[in-house]
Amino acid sequence: MSGLYAREGQSVSKMAHLRFFPQAVVGGRGAYLTGDDGRQLLDFSASWGSASLGHSHPAIRAAVDRALSDQAGASYLSSANEPCVLLAEKLLSLVPERARGRVWFGHSGSDANETVARMVTAATGRPRILAFNGAYHGGTVGSMAVSGHPAQQGARAAGLTLVPYPNSYTAGSAEAARDATLSHLECLFAAEVPPDEVAAFFIEPVQSDGGMLVPPDGFFQAVEALCRKHGILLVCDEVKVGIGRSGRFHAYEHSGIEPDIVVFGKGLGGGLPISAVVGPESLMNHAAAFSLQTVHGNPVCAAAALAVLETIEGDRLAENAARTGSVLRTALDRLASRHALIGDIRGHGLALGVELVSDAASRAAAAREAALTVYRAFELGLVLYYVGVRSNVLEFTPPLTLTAEEAEKGVAILDRALTDVRDGKI
Ligand code: PLP
Repeated sequence: MSGLYAREGQSVSKMAHLRFFPQAVVGGRGAYLTGDDGRQLLDFSASWGSASLGHSHPAIRAAVDRALSDQAGASYLSSANEPCVLLAEKLLSLVPERARGRVWFGHSGSDANETVARMVTAATGRPRILAFNGAYHGGTVGSMAVSGHPAQQGARAAGLTLVPYPNSYTAGSAEAARDATLSHLECLFAAEVPPDEVAAFFIEPVQSDGGMLVPPDGFFQAVEALCRKHGILLVCDEVKVGIGRSGRFHAYEHSGIEPDIVVFGKGLGGGLPISAVVGPESLMNHAAAFSLQTVHGNPVCAAAALAVLETIEGDRLAENAARTGSVLRTALDRLASRHALIGDIRGHGLALGVELVSDAASRAAAAREAALTVYRAFELGLVLYYVGVRSNVLEFTPPLTLTAEEAEKGVAILDRALTDVRDGKI
């Protein structure tokens, strides 16, 4: 099976611009993947954050096996099935009171955000939506319509207005970043965007694909206050950094806010395709009207998601994400003192980003070096990826089961990769 991608004859720089590795995966256990050449790869990506419990977790295997034996196919458009009812009840118990109404299930973060985008304008009669520059809410037409990532230019909705996500690193300080965006919002409301025409504000509690940006203290509380003042729905996209990854169950808890609508995906299914939107009944009834998909609420995926939530709770994996995340963070901080390429390290728990810059003073993006580092790390046995509006941020979203030893081992590999990139050995 090896040789799915030709390795010979391709220059490294050509490979470096691939986001995908020239290898197929034939297995996985815990934090390790097995490549088609038999190599063990330490996975700091966890399939872009989806494999929340690591690969082939026994709780998911058992739940899926049970559901496959008893209920596979028991997903019927006009009816519910036991795992998805239990999952809906569990999710409702986890969100703030104001969002505790009904649950819609989909297959991906994209279809969930698309459903929300359609639902909020239909339910409120307001035509406008706010979101952030750099926001990645999905890859379907309807989710790209409310996204601000550069990859999605051209697909934006006519009623979408993008606001700068506060970037404490480029702004020089958290306060400067927070104040700049808040005054931008005030000017916007005063001059361009009548707030009573805005249905919803889509937020990422940590902007992951935009560069793992952590909001400054107090920022989202101020946004929440503005939303309440103007009757704007606060939609929190927890797809990438939620479900324990940040060290708390919801990443928005770090900001002390209470969204009206919460969107889950990726880690919810532990690798199986399931997403969920949770919100007040009056709104969610609109979703029921237009957003039917044949196998949504699939019992096999819902059973996997229930197993994920039970394991996160039972094994205290959010706490593990906080603890192991701090080991990872400390090890990365040590690297920063030896690698001039590292400009900034940020994130919460096991959602961390390392911004690479070619010049510390100007913070010029080292995008080529980021791609080369990801590729060299892969050659050395570590799976990483890069994100960011400037494509220069290494992203770490490993399984929530990661151990301190695995964290240290991954950083040792990253150290070698950064050294090889610096020394021009790749
Ligand atoms: N929302 C966020 C914050 C994401 O990071 C992503 C994917 O990276 C999505 C939504 C889209 O999820 P999916 O790729 O499952 O459609």
